[in-house]
Amino acid sequence: MPVLALDLNSFFASVEQQERPELRDRPVGVAPVLADTSCCIAASYPAKACGVKTGTGVAEARRLCPDIVIVEARPALYVRYHERIKACVDRLAPIVAVPSIDEFTCELPAGWQSWERAAELGRRIKRAILDEVGTVLRCSVGIASNAYLAKTACDMRKPDGLTVLRPEDLPEALFRLELRDLCGIGPNLERRLRAAGIHTVERLYAASPLELRKIWGGIGGERMYEYLRGRADYEPPVERRSVGHSHVLPPELRSEAGAHAVLHRMLQKAAMRLRRLALTAGGMQITVRSLAENRRAWGACGWHAEGRFVHTDDTLSLGQHLESLWQRRPQAARKTRPLQVGVVLFDLIETGHQTLPLFPADRPRTRLLETVDRVNLRFGKNTLYFGAAHAARDRSPTRIAFTRIPDIAVE
Ligand SMILES: [Mg+2]
Repeated sequence: MPVLALDLNSFFASVEQQERPELRDRPVGVAPVLADTSCCIAASYPAKACGVKTGTGVAEARRLCPDIVIVEARPALYVRYHERIKACVDRLAPIVAVPSIDEFTCELPAGWQSWERAAELGRRIKRAILDEVGTVLRCSVGIASNAYLAKTACDMRKPDGLTVLRPEDLPEALFRLELRDLCGIGPNLERRLRAAGIHTVERLYAASPLELRKIWGGIGGERMYEYLRGRADYEPPVERRSVGHSHVLPPELRSEAGAHAVLHRMLQKAAMRLRRLALTAGGMQITVRSLAENRRAWGACGWHAEGRFVHTDDTLSLGQHLESLWQRRPQAARKTRPLQVGVVLFDLIETGHQTLPLFPADRPRTRLLETVDRVNLRFGKNTLYFGAAHAARDRSPTRIAFTRIPDIAVE
């Protein structure tokens, strides 16, 4: 079933032009404050034609476009317009997502779900905004088989576009785009794609899910593979969050073995929290702060390591990732006396969004983890836990006797 994406063109500048007719058809830049050191957060199309973009400094905008009018942003006004447009759009096509103040994603009501009818509905929505909200509020509409491609279609013609990507137009219609035209491909990812020999959307489309997974460093790669084929529904990534703990070591645990053990215990707790939140992590950072005992001052020095991996909420996999970070700890750091340790899981996405993570062999482990979590919730957080040696066993010979981990509370 087609999905419709809508994006207002030069939204803040258009609202200003709507409110102040003397600004219409003129180069306009909207800035948070009226100062040359400020920058434009929106530009009207005549200003864009001179090279003014979102992020262009006000001084630079004046140089590029000498007759530009810089106006001070009125956020409350833009929110009021946003609400009016939202109501107008929603009446014609139910809004299912609001990715930003000037973007909407809609499903199509019964009777409007064929490609021809969907395109007609897109035209009606554009007309309704002009008629009911503001005569200069133009937007671009994209229609495709998932929200990702609808958004891509929306961006293909600006301003005032209406682009329909039918299944039979794919993938060729995408091949005239640059990599950076695709949502979610920013400068870093573009660099990684190019390093992997992918310079065009056509080559990107030909890449295997596994190849993309490696370049993305996770599930994002497979998701892109699905998106480009119009299959998976596009969900904007969960806002960046993290789950973590840090702990000042009691004197008897201020050793390498103690720090290592406490890190594992904190990780097990963090992993449990992750599962409770129905999230999986794609990255981990561990930190060890040490007393610099050779200094006269009681200073502390820190070491940290960070790694990325395939998204998981599995305590044992996470334990192995912790081990590989721990192996990076330099000899010099191992000679210091740890004072405080911390572990943070980041790049969190909702559990259901992993497409490939659980091999059938891991399923019993999922059940095991659920059981461990239930027991711990019922009887206290440390009733059951994994010996850290277990997580480390496959990777390297264990040099620390985990069986002697004192049963300390980690909170
Ligand atoms: Mg926009």
